[in-house]
Amino acid sequence: MRGIVIVGAGQAGAALAAKLRSLGHTGPITMIGEEPVPPYQRPPLSKAYLLGEMELERLYLRAPSFWEEQSVTLRLGARVEAIDTAARTVTLEDGEIIAFDDLALTTGSRPRRLPAAIGGDLGRVFTVRTLADVDRMAPEFRAGARALIVGGGYIGLEAAAVAAKLGLDVTLIEAAPRILQRVAAPETSDYFRKLHTAHGVTVREGIGLDRLVGKDGNVSAAILADGTDLAADLVIVGIGIQPNAELAEAAGIALENGIRTDAFGRTSAPHVWAAGDCASFPHAGGRIRLESVGNAIDQAEIVAVNILGADTRYEAKPWFWSDQYDVKLQIAGLNTGYDRIVTRKGDGDVVSFWYYRGDTLLAIDAMNDARAYMIGKRLIEMGKSPDPAVVADASADLKPLLKA
Ligand code: FAD
Repeated sequence: MRGIVIVGAGQAGAALAAKLRSLGHTGPITMIGEEPVPPYQRPPLSKAYLLGEMELERLYLRAPSFWEEQSVTLRLGARVEAIDTAARTVTLEDGEIIAFDDLALTTGSRPRRLPAAIGGDLGRVFTVRTLADVDRMAPEFRAGARALIVGGGYIGLEAAAVAAKLGLDVTLIEAAPRILQRVAAPETSDYFRKLHTAHGVTVREGIGLDRLVGKDGNVSAAILADGTDLAADLVIVGIGIQPNAELAEAAGIALENGIRTDAFGRTSAPHVWAAGDCASFPHAGGRIRLESVGNAIDQAEIVAVNILGADTRYEAKPWFWSDQYDVKLQIAGLNTGYDRIVTRKGDGDVVSFWYYRGDTLLAIDAMNDARAYMIGKRLIEMGKSPDPAVVADASADLKPLLKA
């Protein structure tokens, strides 16, 4: 009976273990996780949970009893320190050795930090990745406190929205010329800049951080690249993530923007697989690594199928969402290489931006427009590209496009 070890008890690890059981695998499954809590969802950490509107129990991906019922051995608060791909063992930090027939690496990613040399290690400088991070920062979210958010990506913007809703005085700085520059069109950046500004957030773009200044070990101010001296009671750093790939690298497993896998989820070492934020995979003639719940689940499930003997390729169908104030942003597809945006404007704050390359629809950003999102997503997955004039006509029903 094949024994399967999963390193990383997060979104991908949990999906993989559950899928193995649902496919009928009856051999031992051991899931080892560094965090002391059962697998949980991260998206609410910068949204409802940080806002205090979601209970801890609702974060769990499965009821804690699920793992016992499914005979999945959870080893929590345990870090894997080494992999021996020849002996097929992993070693925990306390020296315990666990053997595997197949090993899945679902080690996720971690936030980039500000260097200690510019104050990154001061107290009340936070990143948003784990439950522990958020439990530490939430008590500092007091009305009137001055919060500086470094980085205008989704995590930074979501944290800014929560802070503003809770009455903090919020400034967000982004070093690039515009917020969301790495991931979205100027139209989407403009939408969210306006939204945040309307909620009292000061958004400053094209301005870097020079350094943080501390008092009694805690951050007290930030000096910006133009010399601005900004008082700050807390700082949230949202400047991107890096894949947790060092464990694999030390075992001699090939890396390429994370742990390199083939289309089936195999790494360069026999019987070692990878999925989720830590893994890059072939896509559209190149190679990508996605940082999303949808990818973590879908890729992990493909790995489960393949561990059990199938030869199924992972075909990513990217989707993502973000909640800020009363706006739900839903994204489908990948916008890389787009050359024009088609706007579909609904009432009030309802709008969607459709990314085209030539006549080909690549992706959609839909704000408070679940219908446009669902139809756009289906069209992209079906490889269909609607006439931009129809998309732009807000009075046109899009549904018939799915049948056209
Ligand atoms: P993780 O969920 O990070 O799990 C990896 C686990 O492996 C971690 O618990 C880590 O401690 C553990 N680990 C690492 N190394 C070891 C080791 N050596 N030994 C033992 N354990 C180890 N995605 C969306 O699609 N929509 C969203 O709105 C969204 N919002 C987000 C908001 C926040 C605040 C964050 C942090 C992420 C958000 N994401 C969102 C991204 C999404 O949560 C991740 O893409 C997803 O969690 C990736 O799953 P994973 O299993 O690859 O990694």
